[in-house]
Amino acid sequence: MRVALVQAGTFWSDAGALFGPVPRILWDRLVSDELTPDWRLGQALNCLLIETPAGRVLVETGIGERLGDKARKMRQYSGDPILPALRLAGFDPATVDVVAMSHLHFDHAGGLLDASGAHAFPRATIVAQRAEWEIALGTNSRLVASYDQPELHLVSDWGAAGWAEGERELLPGVTVLPTGGHSAGHQAVIVRGQGPAAGRPVAFFGDLAMRPWSANPRWITAFDDFPLDSVKVKSELFRQALAEDWTLVLSHEPRTPIGRLVADRDRYAYQPVRTPTG
Ligand SMILES: [Zn+2]
Repeated sequence: MRVALVQAGTFWSDAGALFGPVPRILWDRLVSDELTPDWRLGQALNCLLIETPAGRVLVETGIGERLGDKARKMRQYSGDPILPALRLAGFDPATVDVVAMSHLHFDHAGGLLDASGAHAFPRATIVAQRAEWEIALGTNSRLVASYDQPELHLVSDWGAAGWAEGERELLPGVTVLPTGGHSAGHQAVIVRGQGPAAGRPVAFFGDLAMRPWSANPRWITAFDDFPLDSVKVKSELFRQALAEDWTLVLSHEPRTPIGRLVADRDRYAYQPVRTPTG
């Protein structure tokens, strides 16, 4: 098995929203070198391409190619969307068998369609939790703000064919695990190699672990729809990740997206293991 990190562009988010309940006095020194004058932070759109003997799994699709000019400007979205980014990394999008979505917010599900509106991964099954589809297409105005509903309606039948209800092994060694918290049907993706030569498991916790400071289970974003669930599930997952020395890939970290957790008092700290070369 091989896991490749593919960055599908970048966008900019309000720093205060990323730190949610955490007072600025505690966080601004952590990001002093990357904070813009208008208090924004650059966010990478990190995706994974997992190659297994049984097929290829793409995790996340980024913002994609269909964002309107106004939203594109507001988000300061730039860089290669998922399709050119995959090709540049040597992967043909037509060979993707499964697209696993941590959740369906605009910055994760936007790349399911190509610029023309056709399925970007024609042979793939999309796997997100059924609960996520239901809330994404629902009517709660607080919750639906982070979803691009007109776009999701265009892929909802495609998505329904791959609904997961609970934990599911997508291909041997690649499992999705419902977490909730950030969104109602949010899920993590865990990759475990098999046999004596298997390396450490690789975990993608989606937007429960966006950035290095997410390693504190209580540091959650203002975008977490069910914050207490986030704190609880992060505590549980991070305990296991530490005990089994999982490799973590952060969902929006631009500079040091690959790392592991270490114990730090009543929380964890994130330790980068490798810096991407570009
Ligand atoms: Zn996100």
